[in-house]
Amino acid sequence: MTTKHSFQAEVAQLLHLVTHSLYSNKEIFLRELISNASDACDKLRFEGLNNDALYEGKSDLVVCVSFDKAARTITISDNGIGMTADEAIAHLGTIAKSGTKDFVSKLGDAQKANAKEQGSLIGQFGVGFYSGFIVADKMVVETRRGGTAASEGVRWISGGAGDFETEVITKEDRGTSVTLHLRDDEEGSSEIGDFLSNWKLKSIINKYAEHISLPILMRKEEWKEGKDNQPGEMVTTDEWETINKASALWSRAKSDITQEQYDEFYKQISYDFAPPLAHSHNRVEGKTEYTQLLYIPSTAPHDLWNRDKKAGIKLYVKRVFIMDDAESLMPVYLRFVKGVIDSADLPLNVSRELLQESRDTKAIREGNTRRILSMLEGMDETTYAKFYEAFGAVLKEGIGEDMQNKDKIAKLLRFASTTEDAIKVGFSDYKARMKEGQEAAIYYITAETLAAAKNSPQLEVFKKKGIEVLLMSDRVDEWALGFLNEFEGTPLQSVAKGAFDLGKLQDEAEKKAAEDAAESAKPLLAKLKEALKDKAEDVRVTTRLVDSPACLVTKEDGMSAQLARMLKQAGQAAPESKPILEINTEHALVKKLEGSVNFNDLAHILFDQAMLAEGGMPADPAAYVKRVNALLS
Ligand code: ADP
Ligand code: MG
Repeated sequence: MTTKHSFQAEVAQLLHLVTHSLYSNKEIFLRELISNASDACDKLRFEGLNNDALYEGKSDLVVCVSFDKAARTITISDNGIGMTADEAIAHLGTIAKSGTKDFVSKLGDAQKANAKEQGSLIGQFGVGFYSGFIVADKMVVETRRGGTAASEGVRWISGGAGDFETEVITKEDRGTSVTLHLRDDEEGSSEIGDFLSNWKLKSIINKYAEHISLPILMRKEEWKEGKDNQPGEMVTTDEWETINKASALWSRAKSDITQEQYDEFYKQISYDFAPPLAHSHNRVEGKTEYTQLLYIPSTAPHDLWNRDKKAGIKLYVKRVFIMDDAESLMPVYLRFVKGVIDSADLPLNVSRELLQESRDTKAIREGNTRRILSMLEGMDETTYAKFYEAFGAVLKEGIGEDMQNKDKIAKLLRFASTTEDAIKVGFSDYKARMKEGQEAAIYYITAETLAAAKNSPQLEVFKKKGIEVLLMSDRVDEWALGFLNEFEGTPLQSVAKGAFDLGKLQDEAEKKAAEDAAESAKPLLAKLKEALKDKAEDVRVTTRLVDSPACLVTKEDGMSAQLARMLKQAGQAAPESKPILEINTEHALVKKLEGSVNFNDLAHILFDQAMLAEGGMPADPAAYVKRVNALLS
């Protein structure tokens, strides 16, 4: 005897949209139904802890997927908890989840809009069990709850319109089977018919359910030779075979996993040949519950600099694969990290848009960031040097991007310096060996290359006084340092920027001498300023130089010459700002300058040479050459 039931209004509305909207990602029905089967087995395991009778003596839990090409059906069956008749009516006739209800009301709004918009909304949200109607025009569910009599089974049938029917059946095996009667394909297309293939179903299952911890079985196929010159064909046998891995590495206990297995899994998900530098595997509990398996690779991929590339994190929800490259789970400056996040809280049908807004995502992202930074903090020196060589420059982006962890990241930065050729000086190392009296600042210089930085005239006085200066030549240094004014209370000071004070490193006599030199150079400075008024913002006596006659510096708040050049090279507008020329009044060339007959030419040569010395180009190279040649001949 069959009984008719009406769907809850929201369900009917949802079904209408599912069946009438364009749907671009049809295959997800399989993901949804397998995940329901897997949930049902989880429930049985849980309830079975206290009630062994539920197992009915059969404790091997499996999901079977089969199809019948002639009948155009696909069946997904499980021996999980199953449903009573009341449960089937309630669970497959109403929508309980609040998220889905919201979604349906949104769909209602979209109903006034076009079908395409509705389709994309459905695509974003996913619709659980009802997604079967994307490909089927009839669904038949046969189910029986574990621990009940065989005669208490129920058959549920619906065509996906306003109502469904139920009837009592006898079902020997506990659990649920869902049979989809596939729609006819539109004229000339066989899109839905394509699902009636062993290969196609296998590949979808592998995509979404490879790591479901439950075996997923399909009938084995065999090649049958053709007789009498007929071509051979694949035939389906009665034998079942497991087609997924049936085990998610990350869901196993750490102690059961060998280093080799970790490395092997890394290679699988990263397509990297080299083993990773480090990994970290944790179950995180708290606000949101998830498993985290993160790897730091040992070498940089060729597209490391592509910031648009999505981070290499695979998102799973309860071991069902959801999406690749979940960039919302890792900040851009850690885009080199590979791994898996398996959330217990996110909904299966989470979309990219939803993911970006979700609180769980935010918590996971913060947790991941903290984890990676502490992995880096804990690395030994050799390993860290390897890491830094491959990814140091990318990590620096974090200084500008992650205000919350800026201080931690700053601690992880390494540079070469005037006393250390290898790129291994951290700000802390620098501070630890600062000279007595050097509390003024951590000094650094940026340049196009390490060699240019090292030979920069601005370093002369620091070399003379034995003060260490950090040498920076990564493209991002200049930009990143713009966000870092100090390190643990000590200001960072570019030696090529602003007027600066050597503070206690300069003794009274030196200070007096500098002041005197500035005083007596006043007339010369005035003449130079006039001659170079189109090129230099100001001309003043230097405290930086020892061997060179002149150098250029940037105003305290100005953009450095190095950054301005980079912007121009990148085709961006850099604010035009004139540098300050600093001259060394002790230098023979400068001494000769004052009374010289060709003062004007010499002034320009002095300026252009200072420009060349810092890796720049004279504004008018031809004029520069002409002036030098005139001087030489
Ligand atoms: P969700 O899985 O998010 O709860 P679904 O629409 O996928 O939503 O499924 C609705 C409900 O139907 C499930 O919560 C479950 O109670 C029931 N159900 C669906 N499939 C099965 C199954 N294979 N075995 C037991 N119960 C099921
Ligand atoms: Mg579901």
